[in-house]
Amino acid sequence: MRILNIGSPVLNNKADKEVEAIINKEIDRQNENITLIASENYASPSVLSAMGSVFTNKYAEGYPKHRYYEGCEYVDEIETLAKNRLNEVFNCEYSNVQPHSGVQANTAVFLAILKPHDKILSMSLKDGGHLSHGNVMNISGRYYEIHFYNVDRETEQIDYESIRKMAKEVRPKLIIAGASSYPRIIDFKKFREIADEIGAYLMADIAHIAGLIAGEVHPTSIGLADFTTGTTHKTLRGPRGGFIVSDKKYSTLLDTGIFPGTQGGPLVHMIAAKAVAFREALEPDFKKYARNIIENSKILCDYLRNDGFKIVSGGTDNHLFLINLEPLEMTGQDASSTLASHNIVLNKNVIPFDKLNPTLTSGIRIGTAAVTTRGMGKEEMLKIGEWISFVLKNWQNKIKIAPIKEKARKLALEYPVYTY
Ligand SMILES: *Cc1c(COP(=O)(O)O)cnc(C)c1O
Repeated sequence: MRILNIGSPVLNNKADKEVEAIINKEIDRQNENITLIASENYASPSVLSAMGSVFTNKYAEGYPKHRYYEGCEYVDEIETLAKNRLNEVFNCEYSNVQPHSGVQANTAVFLAILKPHDKILSMSLKDGGHLSHGNVMNISGRYYEIHFYNVDRETEQIDYESIRKMAKEVRPKLIIAGASSYPRIIDFKKFREIADEIGAYLMADIAHIAGLIAGEVHPTSIGLADFTTGTTHKTLRGPRGGFIVSDKKYSTLLDTGIFPGTQGGPLVHMIAAKAVAFREALEPDFKKYARNIIENSKILCDYLRNDGFKIVSGGTDNHLFLINLEPLEMTGQDASSTLASHNIVLNKNVIPFDKLNPTLTSGIRIGTAAVTTRGMGKEEMLKIGEWISFVLKNWQNKIKIAPIKEKARKLALEYPVYTY
């Protein structure tokens, strides 16, 4: 069931041996490690090849047919193609494929519809929210008045009634639905109802779940949220980048929010690569990939829960889940660095009501999009679960856990990603 075609399009750089050697080391690293970082994936060789195209040479400030530079006829063609394909992926009327990243997409929406000091109601960062939803160091937290909603203390899931209550008290101009480390279905319908009750805008940030929505394994935000922002490089499996989709009526506001609001010239080579990724997302195989991601996530999560680990919210509905390490008296930092030195790469993560700071954390986040792209399934998930469990339960006994490194490396190499 391997989905990705392995191969190396543009990865060799004969003219610069120094850079080529480093790139090749990174190819080896990606091939030799089992990546469970929930926000990572492997772009296909066709995506990589479009990223390495001559479109990087072109300045194209503006939008198709309205450019500030000459020579944009093919840029217009590629951007229009990317937009049309994205509209088809999400079944929407308007899309902007220029955001350089997810944060850029969010910032552009804020600039388009908010004034400084306007109120935003978003998910607490500890409970799964993202830094661009109001972290004090981020532009969102500096320019706007942020109010956070939390998950329920018992269920560790979104409590829509408490959000409704907060929304009525705070009366934000914008409500954000969306997260970086929330393992459950997000009910965009309920968010819409709450936003309507107080006349607020609703923005859905689907950075993590864009590929799951495209693959029809998570309910869509399109038609419910006023604005949907996202990234193209997580479950959507394209190049690094962002997008905005919405109703046509906001097109001018959102377009100017990106350019000239928050960006200059678009990265046309990245737009070309996005176009390739959107076509891949329209292929029937993509739905199979999306279903497999969730199947793998549930298998791995169930294994670890049955093996005694405490899972945040008790389980998962999507591509990721979180382990609460408090019962093991181990920090997320210890867990992630120990696993990484045994070729299992994931990240530490704050968990709801975490007592530790974000550099230590009491949790780890585990995602299955990347291993699914490599073609791994049930059998591999069970092996990986066994190894994670063994390493975490014996993490201070370096000699005992040492053999896991070679086992993990061997399994990874059985599912190579790229060659050179
Ligand atoms: C990953 C993520 C982003 C940011 O994407 P970048 O491309 O890293 O800027 C924004 N929002 C959410 C919810 C995310 O998970």
